[in-house]
Amino acid sequence: MATYEYVCRDCGYFDVRLPMGTAPSEYGCATCGHEARRVYSPPNISWVPPALAAAFGREEQSRDTPEVVTTPSPGRRRSQPPHPALARLPRP
Ligand SMILES: [Zn+2]
Repeated sequence: MATYEYVCRDCGYFDVRLPMGTAPSEYGCATCGHEARRVYSPPNISWVPPALAAAFGREEQSRDTPEVVTTPSPGRRRSQPPHPALARLPRP
């Protein structure tokens, strides 16, 4: 089953649950019985994980007022020491 949205010109919006793919372009209004036309709206994706919501908030805020950092991010530090062969390279 899927939820389809219709709008009646007298009563406004209402939802109808029908098997997926069977929604007609017009449906009888549950209140007044007039034909209501189908409307399309984005799926309900209002729930966002808190960590992702916080990241979106920081990203949006940084557009106008970027954060000032004084130390590199811990994620950017090298996890391994440089290769020993790099020490034998000639130095200027
Ligand atoms: Zn109606």
